Amino acid sequence: MALDGGDPLAGLPGVGPATVARLARAGLARVEQLALWAPRRYDDAGAVRAIAALAAGELAYVEGVVRRATVRRFFRRATLEVTIDDGSGGLLLRWFRFRGAVPDRFALGRRVRAAGRVRAGKRGLEMAQPIADPVEDAPRLGGAVALRARYAPIAGVPPARLEKLAALAARAGFPEPLVVPPDLPSLADAVAAVHLVGAPLDETARAALVAGRSAAHRRLAFESLLRVRLRVRAGLATEAERGRPLVAAASAADVLAPLLAALPFAPTAAQRREIAAVAVDLAGARPMRRLLTGDVGSGKTLVAAAAIELAAASGARAALLAPTAILAEQQAEVLARLLSPTGRRVALLHGGTPARARTRLRAELAARDGAVDVVVGTHALLDEALAIAGLALVVIDEQQRFGVAARAALVDKARGAGVTPHQLALSATPIPRTLALALRGELTLGHLEERPPGRAPVPTELWTDDAAGPRAIEAARAAIAEGGQVYWVCPQIDARPDVAGVLAVAARLEAALGGPIAICHGRQAPRTRAAQMAAFRAGAPVLVATTVIEVGIDVPAATLVAIESPERLGLSTLHQLRGRVGRGSRRGRCLLVAPRASPEERTRLSALLELDEGLQVAEADLARRGMGELAGAAQSGLPSLPPLPAAELQRLVEAADRAAEEILRVDPQLSQPGHLRLARALADAMARSYSAVDGG
Ligand code: ADP
Ligand code: MG
Repeated sequence: MALDGGDPLAGLPGVGPATVARLARAGLARVEQLALWAPRRYDDAGAVRAIAALAAGELAYVEGVVRRATVRRFFRRATLEVTIDDGSGGLLLRWFRFRGAVPDRFALGRRVRAAGRVRAGKRGLEMAQPIADPVEDAPRLGGAVALRARYAPIAGVPPARLEKLAALAARAGFPEPLVVPPDLPSLADAVAAVHLVGAPLDETARAALVAGRSAAHRRLAFESLLRVRLRVRAGLATEAERGRPLVAAASAADVLAPLLAALPFAPTAAQRREIAAVAVDLAGARPMRRLLTGDVGSGKTLVAAAAIELAAASGARAALLAPTAILAEQQAEVLARLLSPTGRRVALLHGGTPARARTRLRAELAARDGAVDVVVGTHALLDEALAIAGLALVVIDEQQRFGVAARAALVDKARGAGVTPHQLALSATPIPRTLALALRGELTLGHLEERPPGRAPVPTELWTDDAAGPRAIEAARAAIAEGGQVYWVCPQIDARPDVAGVLAVAARLEAALGGPIAICHGRQAPRTRAAQMAAFRAGAPVLVATTVIEVGIDVPAATLVAIESPERLGLSTLHQLRGRVGRGSRRGRCLLVAPRASPEERTRLSALLELDEGLQVAEADLARRGMGELAGAAQSGLPSLPPLPAAELQRLVEAADRAAEEILRVDPQLSQPGHLRLARALADAMARSYSAVDGG
């Protein structure tokens, strides 16, 4: 069966409805979307090694002859076991949850290549779930080196499965658009290369691919940028869309005066400027599409509050979408306080809202003259049955946490009434300059470059000695004695041998520090979690939590954040977490408690000690992950760009813009074969039309 890029993923062999739904949630619905979704990074197992020289823990690439192959069954579980021998020694390859009989490719005597992580098993060294194929048909393992593609995780779809599906999708047809820069490979070749189903790679090509700087990556970036520029050049209905002009910019200052006068601080110049820019946008007939970025703690909420006040002052309603219930609760409180001078009513809705309150709120929101001015909520706001009459402004907090579909659902609530709402997205994830350039015309960017006064960067220490844990407890004791509060973060709820868990750590801290310890994690009932969070806000000395507190949480008295097993978390997450402290009058401090981190992990973590701007951290993350945003793009909706030098990206943006212009001139309906997928992406974007922050 020849696959077409436009085919739904449901057509792929072995893809059931559950997998289809999971992939769709990640923004992957069609074969071409999966094919254009490049791996986040590659594991590079290096050159073929002698089996006898392997050590546990290494990523290795071996070649040997099959000496034994069986499927072992234990109750309903089956494991495929294949032993290969390369003359220097034998190695056991194991695949768990295996179905069926021993495949032909592992027939006795066949020469096989395998790449994977070596570990110590009961019967000596082994590789679990390696990629392995006979030498003659192992393109992924071709040449002298082995690579393994690693994709951004999708909940419920095992990595090995993703690898197989992506490899399948990569074999679909990808006809070329009319205009492509001559120095780039064809899309079909580029897709094959990034998913490792193309021709074997030589050493140089391999290095470029692993670094995310291959010609294939540039071709994918071009494709992505072409879509953005097509959207912009096609006008994407923005001209035709009717917005609802809110308070005239001239009177915005009067409207906001009571609010600003009541603040316990003076807004920064950057906040004033961004508020003024928002006011101008809101007064226009075209719907605002604005993305406000600013590092953690830069004060984005105030700008959102001003926008909401402007909407309320013209008799319109606003909705604010937040990624977690904890954050929604906090933002509802903060907004109620900020908007109290004008008496605006703030309502809260999330999964834990009791049924009766929910019913009452629904009725109020459905009524045009209901008392609520702004509703703050989580995904619960997106419920199709929830009507928000008079919705004219949509604010999305921590925008990077939402998929395109979630944002679109909220925007559609207003669109039902014939107007496109004004949209303000807030994000701490900075937009690189080149990306901003690519988005020009469809999105207005604002940035809070200034920190509120006294908000110094949070000094960060990396503790790797065996006594790091106990020493961190002493540091917590000292911080509490000085009147501060402490966040204690663990990557997991339940501890694993090598990862700290919230429950065990909370018990340990309670024994060491005494007193009730607040606990916060994703498995708690919303009401319990809210109560624990409230206890911490009210002054409980310690909050032990998973990364549910990563974004947005604002408890000004917190001065210390200790993060256990930080090697399990991304640099950007760690940067967000340390942004939780030092938000009040006193300086914050961040401890990375990493006695179990490997030397490489320590090197990675130590980058955080030097960097104190979100932008630098994001760049470090990008450089390390290699593929960077290319992988996350399907979810975030931003065009996917590999970590190419800025000048090169700029050339690509310009080339894409010229190509978009030419393509629209020659084939305005985008009906040529090479343009069909562009037409589909454009149609998707139109359907969502929250093109502000979405991709193709
Ligand atoms: P973020 O940009 O991370 O969303 P917030 O809007 O939550 O930041 O603001 C962080 C903290 O800084 C809050 O406690 C807020 O009240 C405070 N804040 C905001 N603006 C200022 C300012 N201009 N001066 C002093 N404190 C401010
Ligand atoms: Mg915030």
